[in-house]
Amino acid sequence: MSIRTRFAPSPTGYLHVGGARTALFSWLYARKHGGKFILRIEDTDLERSTQASVDAILEGMTWLGLEYDEGPFYQTHRFDRYKEVIQQLLDQGDAYYCYCSREELDALREQQMANKEKPRYNGKCRHGVVQDGERVVRFKNPEQGEVVIDDLVKGRIVVANQELDDLIIARSDGTPTYNLTVVVDDMDMGVTHVIRGDDHVNNTPRQINILKALGASLPLYAHVPMILGSDGARLSKRHGAVSVMQYRNEGYLPEALLNYLVRLGWSHGDQELFSLDEMVELFQLEKVNVSASTFNTEKLLWLNHQYIMHSDPAHVARHLSWHLGELGLDPSQGPVLSEIVKIQRERCKTLVEMAEASRYFYEEFDGYEEKAAAKNFKVEAVPVLQQLLTAFSAVTDWQAEPLHQVVLDTAESLQLGLGKVAQPLRVAVCGCGVSPAIDQTCALLGREKTLNRIQRAINTIQGQ
Ligand code: GLU
Repeated sequence: MSIRTRFAPSPTGYLHVGGARTALFSWLYARKHGGKFILRIEDTDLERSTQASVDAILEGMTWLGLEYDEGPFYQTHRFDRYKEVIQQLLDQGDAYYCYCSREELDALREQQMANKEKPRYNGKCRHGVVQDGERVVRFKNPEQGEVVIDDLVKGRIVVANQELDDLIIARSDGTPTYNLTVVVDDMDMGVTHVIRGDDHVNNTPRQINILKALGASLPLYAHVPMILGSDGARLSKRHGAVSVMQYRNEGYLPEALLNYLVRLGWSHGDQELFSLDEMVELFQLEKVNVSASTFNTEKLLWLNHQYIMHSDPAHVARHLSWHLGELGLDPSQGPVLSEIVKIQRERCKTLVEMAEASRYFYEEFDGYEEKAAAKNFKVEAVPVLQQLLTAFSAVTDWQAEPLHQVVLDTAESLQLGLGKVAQPLRVAVCGCGVSPAIDQTCALLGREKTLNRIQRAINTIQGQ
């Protein structure tokens, strides 16, 4: 059997981390088994669906690298097909028109609630005849027996058909409802594994009954537990970023987020870091936790730093380039980005931090960080900077090593500790008291900018 999975978001907001994790699990499962991964946009709720959300979801999928083999399919393009299936169910006696008014249904519900019964449709029109007037279409749920779901994550779930009422599959305006469209799509698209959030568990027996009525083969189901915030409540905006693209904006690498998401509710021994290839090789739906997992921003940040430090610098540089652009800096007006990555990666846990900490490579700064200047720009720094300027000017091979030698020689000839030389130099070229090794920084910054900035610092101190 060739495996076919799908991700079926409703475009009513951005791509959130919970959805992304479901998408990742579906993607991994398809990749692992040489199957196909389908993207389906469930946009039948015309009031809540927006094009902006569709775009945001597609953008999120692209950024994460979860490429789909088929789709995106839009449910709004498939209304004719849903109508056809609704008619088929009516024709074969598995669906019927229901004429009950809203008032009638409300009264029924109130009565059932008063009797402490579960509110459900009483099947009044199930055996009725076709009449005129406003009507919906209901699926004729079997009255006897039970539905057995061998969920790949949750294990066996058994639901008695008596628990289920006759679900509306077409509204009075003829539009299909969620459970019908999902069933038709999963059937038509040959989906073999439905991997989705466990908020859909209650829909599953109903969907199975409709699939059976249509003579379709049943997919296997894997309901993935939800993600909680640190306080145990369902993860939401008040816990911090929940949108995938916000993680991009905050300086995370997509691989780090994917690695974090795969570990959220799934494990392989105590291994924390997984390359995409390893994820594909090792991922097993059966190993997904039955209980909900808690989102831990600290751990994600740690993972991000691991990825920044250990990924190919050229790859990190491509993402860093975007962040520099966000700061209004032009990556082409400075050192080769992968060199920046190499000297900054130990100290920067996010790409936003790295971009911020690399500003001085790409633009002149207006002033010096006050504290650093107060400490390092005293009059006695002038001869130090002057000597550095002279010696640097004489360096022909503008590399970290000869520059390092100059710093050492200067300290020695002026009989100063290294810090008394390196710190004024650092503040002069970076504007602040923290940077990667100063010889490497000057080497990357380039001869002209370094010399100009030392001269500018001397002028500043002398003008004080
Ligand atoms: N569109 C549904 C949602 O966004 C998912 C339906 C499904 O996966 O079956 O929650």
